[in-house]
Amino acid sequence: MSRPAEGIPEPRHRLGLAALAGRGRETAVGGEDGPCGPDVVGGLAAAWAEAVAGTSYVSMSRSEIEQHLAGLTRQLVTALLAEPFDPTPARQVGAAMVAAHFTGTETLNRTVALLATELPARLGLFRDGCQGPVVERVAAVQGALAAGYAEALRQRTLDEQEAISQAVFVARDQTEQALRASEARFRAVFAEAAIGIGVGDMAGRILEANASLLEMMGYSLEELRQRNVRDFMHPEDAASVWRLYDELVHGQRDHFRVEKRFFRSDGEVIWTHLTVSLIRDDRGHPTYQVAMIEDVTDRHLLQERLRYQALHDPLTGLPNRALFLDRLSRAFETGGRDGRVGLCYLDLDGFKVINDSLGHDVGDQLLVAVGQRLDACVSAPGRLVARIGGDEFIILVERSGSTQDVVVIADHVLAALEAPIRVGEHELAVSASIGLVERPVHGTTPADVMRDADITLYWAKSDGKAKWALFDPERNAREVARFTLSATMPAAIERGEFYLDYQPLVRLSDGQLVGAEALVRWRHPEFGLLAPDRFIGLAEETGQIVPLGRWVLREACRQARLWQDRFGQRAPFISVNLAVRQSRDPSLVADVAKVLAETGVEPGRLQLELTESAVMGTADEPLDALRALSAMGVRIAIDDFGTGYSNLAYLRHLPVHELKIAGSFVEGLRASAADGSHVVDARIVGTLVSLAHALGLGVTAEGVETEAQARRLDDIGCDSGQGWYFARPGPPDQITRLLS
Ligand code: C2E
Ligand code: MG
Ligand code: MG
Repeated sequence: MSRPAEGIPEPRHRLGLAALAGRGRETAVGGEDGPCGPDVVGGLAAAWAEAVAGTSYVSMSRSEIEQHLAGLTRQLVTALLAEPFDPTPARQVGAAMVAAHFTGTETLNRTVALLATELPARLGLFRDGCQGPVVERVAAVQGALAAGYAEALRQRTLDEQEAISQAVFVARDQTEQALRASEARFRAVFAEAAIGIGVGDMAGRILEANASLLEMMGYSLEELRQRNVRDFMHPEDAASVWRLYDELVHGQRDHFRVEKRFFRSDGEVIWTHLTVSLIRDDRGHPTYQVAMIEDVTDRHLLQERLRYQALHDPLTGLPNRALFLDRLSRAFETGGRDGRVGLCYLDLDGFKVINDSLGHDVGDQLLVAVGQRLDACVSAPGRLVARIGGDEFIILVERSGSTQDVVVIADHVLAALEAPIRVGEHELAVSASIGLVERPVHGTTPADVMRDADITLYWAKSDGKAKWALFDPERNAREVARFTLSATMPAAIERGEFYLDYQPLVRLSDGQLVGAEALVRWRHPEFGLLAPDRFIGLAEETGQIVPLGRWVLREACRQARLWQDRFGQRAPFISVNLAVRQSRDPSLVADVAKVLAETGVEPGRLQLELTESAVMGTADEPLDALRALSAMGVRIAIDDFGTGYSNLAYLRHLPVHELKIAGSFVEGLRASAADGSHVVDARIVGTLVSLAHALGLGVTAEGVETEAQARRLDDIGCDSGQGWYFARPGPPDQITRLLS
């Protein structure tokens, strides 16, 4: 502030003002009575104080103000009178006014006016015609004071602003610090989170991503920022993923959580748990989306692997039964009204032999090789080859066009297995039996199809090896009925559902009733009255014929005893059919003996009818049984003679008493046919009869339906006849009536 104030003119005249001022008074400037003496200065200060009174708010009394201004007045006077003249100290006076808060708007005005009038006047400077230089000096002092004042005021304003801004800054700094602290905490969480976090705007532009996310995805932040969320669509994303995303960006939901896979920058796929949340602004408008992405690839792969293991056969790597059943059910669910499904159920022929003879290792390798061949020859979209049991494979055709489709596959499979399979040093010939089922899914169930495939495989097996069989509902219905019958037979015997009809055996020479054949019937609660051909064969297969035959024998003998009691010697013998299986039953002889003993029927009144196959070409035991029965006095008859081996010469060695000639021979004797075939038949029967008689056997003709047949048979020499001509099989009363 000591430099000369700009724009303040240097005094044009250099004259000794101090001298001027002191003239006549002889007083030095600073002396007691000089221009700076207490009178002059005090007067000036009082006038100054008077001029500025009330223009500024200063915390001083009037006398303190005067005292303060007196100091400043002295400086001004000194500056005005100084030689050489320098107005600069007046600047300090201006600055001092500001410092003492003489800063009211009128204060400077009045001070400057006072300097122009009172200061020179009181110093007596307007005397002696030197007004010009005085005015110039006063103006310079005024200017310097005003400049110092303005400068100080400006500085003070600046200082005040600075103080305010400093205060504001400090205040702001403190809030910022708090904010920064919370932001830092947030940043740390964001940056160091193990989970990937990304922030995007509502258009899907990626704005931020933390280190975990970058590492997970294999991108730099810059690369990610150039991408859109939708770029991360995976072709196999569930449709729901992007539907949920759309709902979120349209503000219809606030978050969603899905399992989703992503492509990394290197093309690798990662599996994640993705949670996306919507961030709204103060007014609730969607502004950002935040994605939290957890890499669960390892967990997922493990699960996949476990799932794979659960659904595949470890030996062949083929789908297992569980996967097959799952796909089968799905084929049903998605098949709709017109969908069809096909199964080829395949079982290796003779696998057990290979396994048992060459060992399980060879067996295992063979299964692997078969699995490969099947897969190679069958595999196509919509088809599944599964291993569902030891040597059982199944081929599922999910959308079959027609039955022909599965037939073609079965042919391919049989052809593919024709070439031997090499396992170690073994060349193994394998074949398979295949059960085929092909049908619309509508109206059936997976369980039905599986059951029918199983049945059909069984048919294929029993038809011979290396064959396929196609499911046939009629055959199945028959078999089901047969199965039902055989399953219910034991209970039926106990419930008394069986009964016997009796058909007379008549002596041809005089028409005398000599015997009665017992023929079993089943009054079935569901199927009605069943003839023996419906259930005897079945009973033979299942073995039920043994208890059933025992019941027939006892029932027939019970009836025979009644006739025996009533008619004595005229009572008919009873003829009971024995199935092959019964004839081979070791307890046959004992059973017969027991029944005869229990019922008291004479053994000679019991005849047992056996077919030729039961007595011919068999081992010794059954013949021993027949011999034992014969020795007991029981008669043995060969039933339906002529339909089997018809080895008359062999009969010589057998304990047989009667031949029953099958109805088919008798048929030819019905009448005189135009071609003369009746003559041939008559000759055959005639030969049979004479040969039988030569062996000491009696002959009964079956199926006698007409009087002519009966007469002819009598002419030929046949002993007895049985047939509708005499009587149809009927209840025992019929026999009783005929005898009475
Ligand atoms: P089968 O022993 O040859 O019995 C004679 C069959 O010829 C009977 O049929 C009888 O009804 C029928 N028949 C009798 N006269 C005539 C005729 O003039 N013309 C024609 N066309 N048929 C006639 P059914 O009762 O149906 O018995 C069929 C077969 O069932 C029997 O043939 C027999 O082999 C077997 N069977 C019947 N009952 C038993 C039984 O208790 N045990 C065993 N193991 N088999 C039995
Ligand atoms: Mg018979
Ligand atoms: Mg017969």
